[in-house]
Amino acid sequence: MTDLDTTVYYDDDADRSQIDDKTVAVLGYGSQGHAHAQNLADSGVDVIVGLREDSSSRAAAEADGLRVETPAEAAAEADIVSVLVPDTVQPAVFEEIRDGLDAGDTLQFAHGFNIHYNQIRPPEDVDVTMVAPKSPGHLVRRNYEAGQGTPGLIAIYQNETGEARDEALAYAHAIGCTRAGVIETTFREETETDLFGEQAVLCGGMTALVREGYETLVDAGYSPEMAYFECLNEMKLIVDLMYEGGLSNMWHSVSDTAEYGGLTRGDRIIDEHARERMEEVLEEVQDGTFAREWIAENQTGRPSYTQLKHAEETHEIEQVGEPLRDLFAWGAEDDEEETAEATADD
Ligand code: NAD
Ligand code: MG
Repeated sequence: MTDLDTTVYYDDDADRSQIDDKTVAVLGYGSQGHAHAQNLADSGVDVIVGLREDSSSRAAAEADGLRVETPAEAAAEADIVSVLVPDTVQPAVFEEIRDGLDAGDTLQFAHGFNIHYNQIRPPEDVDVTMVAPKSPGHLVRRNYEAGQGTPGLIAIYQNETGEARDEALAYAHAIGCTRAGVIETTFREETETDLFGEQAVLCGGMTALVREGYETLVDAGYSPEMAYFECLNEMKLIVDLMYEGGLSNMWHSVSDTAEYGGLTRGDRIIDEHARERMEEVLEEVQDGTFAREWIAENQTGRPSYTQLKHAEETHEIEQVGEPLRDLFAWGAEDDEEETAEATADD
């Protein structure tokens, strides 16, 4: 096995005195917010959840035994303000809390978008950091409760006190990330790789591949059910093998025929043209084109987003898939979990 050439921080690298006497305001009680707030509280850190008076998440946070105040009140009291409301809402919430940021306080994020693209311009006398678990919030919470951790990233944008890194590591310790391992990145790298990955490979690339494969089979006269199984359902089995042991593990586990067919045909599908498109998408991320487009989309009531979302939701593969999933109840466990974990959105 090759060693990582980047430093991985574990529990022993964190100095908890950097956070144990501080008050943390967790703004938002969604996926990340509920997990950070509860893990911090269970680690003995003083936590205030910041939510609007009319937020439907208030009841949930209070039921979980947490103190709830408005974002402005929570931020004013806190030494560390962890901004865990949706990225598109963060600039507005920042306006509500900025007066509560005292010199030496920390403004902390779990994703770099608003700082990297200058949608939030923090005061110069505060630290600005990122602690980003590399998984959805319900796993951050579940792993912590099971005595395990979730790998995470830290990044430092402003280090006014000189202690920003130690404090971020202490926070990562308190939410369980240093149990699994934490690596340091920058706001720029985290933001750009995150956007590129979700656009080109994970969310965008993957769904387009599934849809095109499905349509190719159905248009050629094969049954929608078979097309669904081959192009969507089996994706999980292949991804699980890659997750477990990389590409080789997947190739070893499928038949020789699948391996030969995949190795000879894969590059014809995702070919040099697809690679050029990927580079274009990356450039739009790097030069701010994508960020400007998404910000404008939000400022104008999300017209394209709404239309594209509707088209995706009403695609035939969705109509075919629902009864099939019910029939076999595959993934039923996950579905129940998600329903139970879902926190009300505002
Ligand atoms: P979310 O959408 O799950 O939750 C946001 C919460 O913010 C809501 O539950 C609510 O309490 C509050 N909220 C919603 N609308 C609001 C409004 N208009 N005004 C004030 N408060 C409002 O958010 P999330 O997915 O936990 O994302 C929070 C941050 O964490 C983002 O920066 C995101 O990029 C980052 N992040 C998320 C994940 C993930 O897996 N979800 C992983 C890593 C980092
Ligand atoms: Mg303060």
